[in-house]
Amino acid sequence: MKEIKVEEVMTRNPIIIEKGLNIKDAADLMRRERIGSLIVRLTGNEYGIITERDIIYKVVAEGLDPVLTKVESVMTYPIISISPNLNLEDAANIMWKHRIRRLPVISNGIIIGILTENDIIRLSPGLIEVTREVFEQTQPLVSGVRGYCDKCRKYDENLIYKAGKYYCQECFLKLE
Ligand SMILES: [Zn+2]
Repeated sequence: MKEIKVEEVMTRNPIIIEKGLNIKDAADLMRRERIGSLIVRLTGNEYGIITERDIIYKVVAEGLDPVLTKVESVMTYPIISISPNLNLEDAANIMWKHRIRRLPVISNGIIIGILTENDIIRLSPGLIEVTREVFEQTQPLVSGVRGYCDKCRKYDENLIYKAGKYYCQECFLKLE
């Protein structure tokens, strides 16, 4: 799986919605397109993501009105994303680490695709499990990931992975 790149497996041109859309319309769109998540465009190149789970847990279970609730109030933001040239093993690591099942793929600040856990399982049914088992013992160095630094909790556009944790550039340089 080391040789297979994210861009070869991801779904290209994922559906991107604008903020302001209500949950009912978002759910309707998911049903029509048979997808489990939608990317939400904010200002500029900022994005959020809303999933079926967000709708179930944060809207339905809370008793919120899906017509009155906007996507941006329940979406996940900022998103954790990956670059298209990472391999599937790296992607599986990142999903496991963050307990997420979908990763938007960003190239030059633009979302070009989305990779789901199902995409990986379809190609390599054992990879997610194997990844969970070996995760703590391996120490690969991976970059091209956006998310929160495990040390200072700051959001960073290019996290560096080492020994089971993600670091911003600043914290990574202070490691040794
Ligand atoms: Zn940091």
